[in-house]
Amino acid sequence: MATKEDYYDLLGVSKSASTDEIKKAYRKLSKKYHPDINKEPDAEEKFKQITEAYEVLSDENKRAAYDQYGHASTDPNFGAGGFGGFGQGGFSGGFGGFDDIFEQFFGGGGRRAYNPNAPRQGDDLQYTMDLDFEEAIFGKETTIRYNRQEVCGTCDGDGAKPGTQPVTCSKCHGAGSIQAERQTPLGRVMTRQVCDVCQGTGQEIKEKCDTCHGTGQVKERHSVKVTVPAGVEDGNQMRLQGQGDAGKNGGPYGDLYIIFRVRPSEIFDRRGSEIYYELPINFVQATLGDEIEVPTVHGKVRFKIPAGTQPGTTFRLKGKGAPKLRGTGNGDQHIRIKVVIPDKLSQEQADLLREFATLDGYEVQEQGDDSFFGKMKDAFLRDKGKK
Ligand SMILES: [Zn+2]
Ligand SMILES: [Zn+2]
Repeated sequence: MATKEDYYDLLGVSKSASTDEIKKAYRKLSKKYHPDINKEPDAEEKFKQITEAYEVLSDENKRAAYDQYGHASTDPNFGAGGFGGFGQGGFSGGFGGFDDIFEQFFGGGGRRAYNPNAPRQGDDLQYTMDLDFEEAIFGKETTIRYNRQEVCGTCDGDGAKPGTQPVTCSKCHGAGSIQAERQTPLGRVMTRQVCDVCQGTGQEIKEKCDTCHGTGQVKERHSVKVTVPAGVEDGNQMRLQGQGDAGKNGGPYGDLYIIFRVRPSEIFDRRGSEIYYELPINFVQATLGDEIEVPTVHGKVRFKIPAGTQPGTTFRLKGKGAPKLRGTGNGDQHIRIKVVIPDKLSQEQADLLREFATLDGYEVQEQGDDSFFGKMKDAFLRDKGKK
């Protein structure tokens, strides 16, 4: 482990600094280095360090231990035997070791795992963004708006009315926990419970902030600019760091996860960067060949159908697919030929096809008036008669 910087140095205060001075220094620094504000790469790490320093120095007991033992006092393994309870709620007056044993017995476990004063990251949020087929392919810039918990600007998050400060809890005197007697299968034991007045923080807010009613957070409409990368697909998600809910006790904001939902196209299918398109042509075009325009997401492209193209044949238009989300360049557009057999023929067309069959050396055995062409002929003559 790297040598840790001195907590007093981190906050830029002297060893004799008052709790108020420490709090002020922390507020100033946490604003400066908050990852939501400061986008420098080191800011988040620095923010964590000053928050850790503040957590220790703002707590009378932890500060005393730190002054005596240095960084070792904050090691979770430190004091596991005998030193007991100072991970939370201060020294338990020699009961530490004893408590620890019973906590283990009765599943209380982890008395150090939860410290109500520790900075905690805010919740992550989720936002579903609908995209058109083309928007997913080419990306876009947009601004999204959603509600999130933000640090209350009136009280800077401590929940106390401006000009007042949280005071040491009147019930637990700052310990965060209270001694209680508990009946167990092994008899009565003294145990510690989280203080119900301060919920374990050791601090009591006598005059609550009017804006947030003491929670230190307010729900705000938040907007953020989003650059949708070109080539995203349905179901892809993107993380925007620090755009979630505000943290507790000066902890960082959570993250925002944007989930993309892409509307399908009526003419294209897409798998990754490859785009699939079915091109309907008639049997004459398939037989004789043709040059036509086909749609791509990049606009219309001239396309030559070779003579004698079979149904189901596929062609590739290089680089006319979607951009590769990872990597460079585009995928391809694949054209699959669908030969459309006419469902309507004029008498003349039918006659020419019969002639074509004769030239090809055989005679078509048409199925009388019930046959397809027979019906067509009837319909044709009927139409003519009307005119
Ligand atoms: Zn407030
Ligand atoms: Zn209390």
